[in-house]
Amino acid sequence: MTYDVLIIGGGAAGLSAALSASNQGARAAVLEAAPRVGRKILASGNGRCNLANTGPLNYPGGASLARRVLENCPAERVLAFFHGLGLLTVQEEQGRVYPACGQAAAVLDVLRGALERRSVPVLSETPAVRIEQAGAGFRLHTPRGVYGARAVVAACGGMAGGKLGHDGGAYRLLTDLGHTLIPPRPALTPLMAEKAAVKGLSGLRLPAILTLCRRKDGKPFAQSQGEALFTDYGVSGVCAMELSRSAGEEKEKSGAWPLLYLDFSPMLGLAPRRYFVTDAPEGPFRNEPAALALLKERLHILPREALLKGLAPRLLAERLAGQDKENLARSLTAFPVPLAGVRGMDAAQVTAGGIRTGEFDPDTLESRLVPGLFAAGEMLDVDGGCGGFNLLFAFASGLTAGENAARIAPDR
Ligand SMILES: Cc1cc2nc3c(=O)[nH]c(=O)nc-3n(C[C@H](O)[C@H](O)[C@H](O)COP(=O)(O)OP(=O)(O)OC[C@H]3O[C@@H](n4cnc5c(N)ncnc54)[C@H](O)[C@@H]3O)c2cc1C
Repeated sequence: MTYDVLIIGGGAAGLSAALSASNQGARAAVLEAAPRVGRKILASGNGRCNLANTGPLNYPGGASLARRVLENCPAERVLAFFHGLGLLTVQEEQGRVYPACGQAAAVLDVLRGALERRSVPVLSETPAVRIEQAGAGFRLHTPRGVYGARAVVAACGGMAGGKLGHDGGAYRLLTDLGHTLIPPRPALTPLMAEKAAVKGLSGLRLPAILTLCRRKDGKPFAQSQGEALFTDYGVSGVCAMELSRSAGEEKEKSGAWPLLYLDFSPMLGLAPRRYFVTDAPEGPFRNEPAALALLKERLHILPREALLKGLAPRLLAERLAGQDKENLARSLTAFPVPLAGVRGMDAAQVTAGGIRTGEFDPDTLESRLVPGLFAAGEMLDVDGGCGGFNLLFAFASGLTAGENAARIAPDR
C-alpha cells in the first residue's frame, strides 16, 4: 500500500489535492476518518454551497498566506477547475459563487466522480493517527494498517461545525513532527448576550448596523451590517457571526466581552447614522437626530405610547414602550446588547487558529520543517469571512498542495 501522494482528510482541501496530484500523474489516495467524505461541503451555504468568492479577499486570519495562495491559484482558476469537472456555477451578490443547480451535493458529486474516473482510492473510516518519517518518504499509521507515500498532504480541517469537525486530535499529526499549533478558537459563530438584553426579542429578524465597542471606554472597533436575528441566547445572522472573531479578540486583550450596539436605521428607512452610542465626547458617533426628528413628526399624529406603531415590529415596540422620544430614538439607533460570549465550536462555521502558516512555503504549501509534507485548508491558521472565502481557500490550497506534492514525489 504505497503511493506517491497520500492525502489525509477527504474534505474540500483533501479532495481537490487528490485530484490535482492525480492530474500530475501521481498515484494518490485519500485517507478519511469519517464514513463519508465531504460532509462540510454538503452542509455549507445552507445546503447550497457558497464555494468561492470573486470579490476582494477577506481573510481576518492568516491573510498573508491566503493572499499568496490565492495569487497563485485565484478564484478564476478554482472555478475553471470546477467547470472542467462539469459543474456549472452562478455568481450572486458580492462575488459569492454557488453551483448553478443550487445544490451543494453537485459540488461533492463532481469531485467524487472525477476521483472515481481516475481510480484514486478514497479510504473512508481510515483515520491517520501518526505520520512517521521513513527514509525518503512517510508511513501513515491508521487502525486499518500502515500506508506508505513519498509525499503527504495533511488536510484534516478544523474543529468548527460540531460533529463535522474534528476534536483537536488531528493537529497532533503535525505538532508531533515539530509544527506549532496556534490555539483554535471558534469564528463565524453567533454572539451570546447577557440574558436581560435580549429578553422577549427571540425570533425577531431586523436589518441593522452592528457595532462592537470596548467596555472600558466605549470605543468602537468593529462593525458589520445585515439582517440581525435575535435568539434566546443573543444575536445571530451573518452580520453578527462576522463580529465573533473581533469580539473574542477583545475579550482576550481586555478580559471583558465588548458591548454590541444595534442601529435599526435601515429598518426605519433612515440614513444609517447612529443617534449616539456612548457618552464619550470623541469618536465617530456624532449626534444624529434623524430618528428623533422622525419620532417628533409622528408625535403630531400618534400618541406617545403608539410612537413605534408601524415602524418597529411588535416585539421590539413592546420592549421599548413607555420610553420618551429621546430615549426611543437612542434605543432605535444604538440598542445596547452587552455581550457575554460567543457560541462555541459546535455553532461556528470556521476555526480561527490552527497550524502556524509561517512554517510552510506559501508558494507550494510544503513544510519548511519536514520536506515532503504539505498542508492545506482549514487545518492551517487561516480563516476567512462569510461569503465563500473559506471554501475558496480550502480548494485553492488543496490544488496547490496536491500539485506540488506530486511534483516532488518522483525526485525523492
Ligand atoms: C455549517 C457550515 C456551513 C459552512 N458554509 C460555508 C460556505 O457556504 N462557504 C464557505 O466558504 N465556507 C463555509 N463553511 C466553512 C467550510 O465548509 C470549511 O472551511 C471547509 O469545508 C474546510 O475544508 P477542509 O477540507 O479544510 O476541511 P474539512 O471539510 O473539515 O475536511 C477535513 C476532513 O478531514 C477528515 N479528518 C479529520 N481528521 C482526520 C484524520 N486524522 N485522518 C483522516 N481524516 C481526517 C474529516 O473527517 C474531514 O472529512 C461552512 C462551515 C460549516 C460548519
